Amino acid sequence: MTALPVSLDDRAVLPGDSRYPLLRSTYTTRHSPAVVILARSHEDIREALAYARKSGLEVAVRSGGHGLSGSSSNDGGLVIDLSEMNGVRVLDRGARLVAIGAGARWATVAGVLHAHGLSISSGDHGNVGVGGLATAGGIGWMVRKFGLTVDRMRSATLVLADGSVRTVDDRSHPELFWAVRGGGGFVGIVTEFVFEAVEVTAVTVTQLTFEGAAATDALARWDAIMRAAPRELTTTIMLHPDGGVLTVVWAGDDIPAAEAAIRPLRRLGRRPSGGKLQVIPYAALVPGAHLHPNVGQMPAVTRNGMVDELDTTVQDLVLAAATEPDLMMQLRSLGGAMFDVVADATAFGNRHQSALVIATTFAPSTWATLDRRWAPLEPHFTGAYGNFESRPTVASLRLAYPAATRKRLRELKSRYDPEGVLRALP
Ligand SMILES: Cc1cc2nc3c(=O)[nH]c(=O)nc-3n(C[C@H](O)[C@H](O)[C@H](O)COP(=O)(O)OP(=O)(O)OC[C@H]3O[C@@H](n4cnc5c(N)ncnc54)[C@H](O)[C@@H]3O)c2cc1C
Repeated sequence: MTALPVSLDDRAVLPGDSRYPLLRSTYTTRHSPAVVILARSHEDIREALAYARKSGLEVAVRSGGHGLSGSSSNDGGLVIDLSEMNGVRVLDRGARLVAIGAGARWATVAGVLHAHGLSISSGDHGNVGVGGLATAGGIGWMVRKFGLTVDRMRSATLVLADGSVRTVDDRSHPELFWAVRGGGGFVGIVTEFVFEAVEVTAVTVTQLTFEGAAATDALARWDAIMRAAPRELTTTIMLHPDGGVLTVVWAGDDIPAAEAAIRPLRRLGRRPSGGKLQVIPYAALVPGAHLHPNVGQMPAVTRNGMVDELDTTVQDLVLAAATEPDLMMQLRSLGGAMFDVVADATAFGNRHQSALVIATTFAPSTWATLDRRWAPLEPHFTGAYGNFESRPTVASLRLAYPAATRKRLRELKSRYDPEGVLRALP
């Protein structure tokens, strides 16, 4: 390895450094990079990129290290870790504009914004990093009310592969701003985002259980109910062989309105489910208790697909998969505000599917069970979410990025990262 430039000496963590064990891996994968650069500035990133190019080192970019494919670390290469670029600042309370460093975690963001009476719908886990989620989508607990996390983005600052820095928005480098909102990891290293937050800080939640999913056509009915439901309602289902647990989130604290919307969902199974509604802070859904270092502790593999409609055919295939003891099957409702954004307005182009199907298998299980159960479902998928994919392939890329989106991303990739320094488009 070429000697590190002096300017990076105090930013570099090498094997043998006491910090290295906590910085080498991701949440789902274990790795041995040659060096991790704890970047604090654009200059650090620029120097790290120049050094990687000179030394022929593969580059990985890491914000929170929660990426499911493990792409935020590598073996023998250089990792640009943004965890110290993690500020959360309210820029303009009236306009609800908030600047967030890519290295912040969503638990921290939710906690800081709560104190200002604001929130941003992100995902379901507080330890997920801002950078990885906000460059790819962000399907959160209030997605049907406020859209994807990328839909609330108003500008972003990124370092391009050649080391130059751009602040991009609708007027300045709009093509890069388009790419950052769904395909950001392919075109640059985002250091800071500006989001327009929302005033909702309280949510109404409950969990409902149902049995007899196939007999009562519970999943197909859930999909139909959710497509007609008020936008405030977002739900997910964690399945077991004969039924499931429905997590219900209503964006706001209007309990009677929430109860009216939830009522049909109480009758999905053979017996009504009586889960009591509770108003909690949004920040409690992505709490600080989620925060932890990522050391490869969750060796899981995940796949996903979106369906236009979850009919009884899809329902039966999903339920059959849920009978596998080592497969966790989850469904998420989409729609609402997510559909307000036209498909080609951002690089997140899947804007019409009503439900997301997610399958996860944990070590020591292999891919085999997942693949066997996934194969009959695949023809039903019309889209996918890049961030719920552990094994990005050409086929999964095609699902995550519709043809027109892929074409635009490839053009931008060849313009802004011609040598392929950053994450490859498979
Ligand atoms: C337990 C768990 C729960 C999750 N729940 C949700 C959820 O509810 N909703 C949802 O939408 N997603 C969810 N995800 C998926 C999540 O969006 C991705 O894993 C995301 O990549 C994590 O972001 P990160 O910064 O931690 O990723 P990292 O592992 O740090 O990065 C992953 C990849 O993102 C890209 N990237 C990261 N930072 C930047 C940056 N600053 N600039 C450019 N590219 C960057 C890089 O290509 C990198 O390889 C979940 C993941 C896990 C493990």
